[in-house]
Amino acid sequence: PFDVLVVGGGPAGASAAIYAARKGIRTGIVADRFGGQVLDTAAIENFISVTHTEGPKLAASLEEHVKEYNIDIMNLQRAKRLEKKDLIEIELENGAVLKSKSVILSTGASWRNIGVPGEAEFRNKGIAYCVHCDGPLFTGKKVAVVGGGNSGIEAAIDLAGYTEHVTVLEFNDQLKADSVLQERLRSLSNVTVVTNAQTKEITGTDVVNGVTYVERETGEEKHIEIAGIFIQIGLVPNTAWLGDSVERNKFGEIIVDNRGATNVPGVFAAGDCTDSPFKQIIISMGSGATASLAAVDYLVRN
Ligand code: FAD
Repeated sequence: PFDVLVVGGGPAGASAAIYAARKGIRTGIVADRFGGQVLDTAAIENFISVTHTEGPKLAASLEEHVKEYNIDIMNLQRAKRLEKKDLIEIELENGAVLKSKSVILSTGASWRNIGVPGEAEFRNKGIAYCVHCDGPLFTGKKVAVVGGGNSGIEAAIDLAGYTEHVTVLEFNDQLKADSVLQERLRSLSNVTVVTNAQTKEITGTDVVNGVTYVERETGEEKHIEIAGIFIQIGLVPNTAWLGDSVERNKFGEIIVDNRGATNVPGVFAAGDCTDSPFKQIIISMGSGATASLAAVDYLVRN
């Protein structure tokens, strides 16, 4: 069996695997797609000490770093079941069952798409999902935010600080964000909120130049010119496969303590799949290291 088996090959998983392997213990990593969300990212400018990098380049460095160590890499494999017996079992979709004394779950998350024309085409070409990551690219420009929940309104407030104008498009007849956020938003002069707005199409040539929405009350179509659009309709953790085996919150995020421990002894979790309040590369790597050191500590004590 493995001493530490990591499930997920993004920044959290890579960090967890390296920290474990450096202790000289038997370490494995299973990943559906090594690199994770980083592969879908264009510019990265907040990975501290690296002024600018590109997603695919950082993903390649992650893999290169993992390969420096004696780590059993199982890429292009999906986990489909976790079961705690004497050892912890991870069953893969190909039918193989891996056994380990401890497991670190780092299966990340996926941004929910709206599913409209232009969305796939202009991804990373004006369509963005992460304000902390891509917001500053639109300094001085007009942008839109789709989604009036907490993340959408937080995004709009953030963007209003450095963009020319922000239009918030909310499908329902009112915003769902906390009232303090709504008040803060209303105090800003360069924000327009449109409720009852169904986003219909994201337009552009090489890059985004506008968004078309339908006013749901009148059925009328409107088009606004923007340089960027932030889709904020939810981040879904990749944890459905766990079922009831590990405790998750109402968003499906794995509940962890400050050592990355879950409710199941020997099972730890790190990164975007957990209930960590902020989802960033640097945070995922840090929590991967924490979970890994906690797993090693668990092995020593058991
Ligand atoms: P992920 O990167 O999501 O990796 C999850 C891993 O688990 C993948 O290898 C995946 O294939 C695997 N996996 C999932 N399910 C299974 C399964 N059942 N079995 C096996 N493997 C599985 N953050 C920044 O700090 N700066 C940025 O500039 C930035 N820009 C971003 C731009 C975009 C477009 C996106 C989408 C995100 C961006 N982020 C950015 C956020 C950042 O990418 C994430 O916070 C980070 O990648 C999370 O790391 P993770 O390891 O927790 O999960």
